[in-house]
Amino acid sequence: MLKLRNSYTNELETFVPLDPSGRDVTFYACGPTVYSYAHIGNFRTFLMADLLRRTLERRGYNVRQAMNITDVGHMTHDHLADATGEDKLSKAARELGWDPHEVAAHFEEAFVADAKKLRLRNYAGEGADADNRALHPRATDFVPEMLAMIQRLIERNYAYVDSAGQVYFDISKFPEYGKLSGKILDDLVSGARVEVRDEKRSPRDFALWKVDAKHLMQWDPHHAEGWRGDGFDRLKKLVPGGVDKRVGKGFPGWHIECSAMSNACLGPVIDLHTGGEDNVFPHHECEIAQSYGARTDEDAPKSFAKNWVHGRHLMVNGAKMSKRDGTFFTAREFFDPRGCDRDALADELSALGFADGNVPPNVLRYALVSVPYTQPMNFSLTALVQAKASVERLQSLYDRLQERAGADEKTAPDAEFAGQIAKREAAFDAALDDNLNVSRALAALFGFVSDCNARELSDADTRVALDFLQGADDVFDVLDHSARSGIITSEQIGAQETPAVEELAPLLSGELGEAELLRLLALRAAARRDRDFATADRVRDGIRDAGFDLDDVPQGIRWKRRD
Ligand SMILES: [Zn+2]
Repeated sequence: MLKLRNSYTNELETFVPLDPSGRDVTFYACGPTVYSYAHIGNFRTFLMADLLRRTLERRGYNVRQAMNITDVGHMTHDHLADATGEDKLSKAARELGWDPHEVAAHFEEAFVADAKKLRLRNYAGEGADADNRALHPRATDFVPEMLAMIQRLIERNYAYVDSAGQVYFDISKFPEYGKLSGKILDDLVSGARVEVRDEKRSPRDFALWKVDAKHLMQWDPHHAEGWRGDGFDRLKKLVPGGVDKRVGKGFPGWHIECSAMSNACLGPVIDLHTGGEDNVFPHHECEIAQSYGARTDEDAPKSFAKNWVHGRHLMVNGAKMSKRDGTFFTAREFFDPRGCDRDALADELSALGFADGNVPPNVLRYALVSVPYTQPMNFSLTALVQAKASVERLQSLYDRLQERAGADEKTAPDAEFAGQIAKREAAFDAALDDNLNVSRALAALFGFVSDCNARELSDADTRVALDFLQGADDVFDVLDHSARSGIITSEQIGAQETPAVEELAPLLSGELGEAELLRLLALRAAARRDRDFATADRVRDGIRDAGFDLDDVPQGIRWKRRD
């Protein structure tokens, strides 16, 4: 049974889905604010959500995960519930001299590219279309839903409108405010003393809808003008009587966005909600208050998410990431440091053994997921070197097993070896079940690697070993699954229809895999039969130049990718 520490109750709880059939799980992960490239601390949090999702999937649950894109309303001073400062998107737009929609589109695209490289299943998995707004809700696409929720909060007296047309949540109506973060309301009052607006009933109240004539993105709740797409029509359908006339032209606060998008994409109550520990207060505390206030059913739970999971911070070399100290890293700066103007970083990484100074995305993924989310992570370049060695160890075993996979389905594996693997697998699962203890899960996995390396494996042993390794990699996802070596048998070559010589050049210039190699080898065999040695040599040299070694073995030809 999977147990998770629920930040809401602060207890280690057995995970039980809300779905009575016990199969479907709804999961909202707070996503990026797209005003800059996501850094490795952001990705640590997103990868924690990914690891949780994959663990649930390994348990057989059908996970519906939504991860939002915030492209409006996230203010610079976001440690305050009623955040002040400047909209992060507007600030970036001003600094870059772009339109805020352009800023959002640019950094959203960059985020999707990074997320795919880091194999976030919500982006890189089956059916994870980046344009699917139910999986990747974008704040500016859900303004009608936000206004509909705000309207409900006004009608239910959880919110009030000031003379400027701004809407505030009235904290006094929700005594549970503070339960998630453990904050005492008096602290909140003193914390919120900065910039108290005159018309706020209490300094703790926070804005749901902001009015500011200078803001670059604006929506008028009462007129179609300025709305993009079918937004205004949708608003009219959602709020047939119209939004409260006092509400002015403005933009949503960051907190209401997640409440509205979670409700729109997953329903009013959900199983899981994740974020970084800095989201606990104020962001998630406010989400809870808003989502409850907007509910009309008597027995609505106080927290719309049953389980809250928060990941701890990432630090670099023992301190907060800092641009001035050169310890602030975006993910893409590791993928291609020279392309990101970080030549010194590239040199340092080259010296540490990274080819061209580039860190493969699967190595960065491993480094970021291999520390339990319950602990702060102290990132360093040494951690990347260790991650690289670990991934290579797994990969080399995988390649060795893969090479023999499929052979001999009839014999049974060695009973003792099979028992050893079953124990490792049980330890692996027990560790993940224990609040995602990845350290122990990886210890079990590497114990298994040692088991495999310590003995001569039969084909049948290979089969059970590969099963476990592939299953474990469904969770960690760090392996390169394209086969790196294999044997093409003489029978396979003989059974191929001989390709025409004209196919040779296009085959060699494309991506070479096992299927292409088979065709090339069939072509070579035919050329040899016809005593056309020039063509046979062209095939052989072409394959070698494409990065493969060929060896004759009794069954046929063994091929191997050179690294
Ligand atoms: Zn959020």
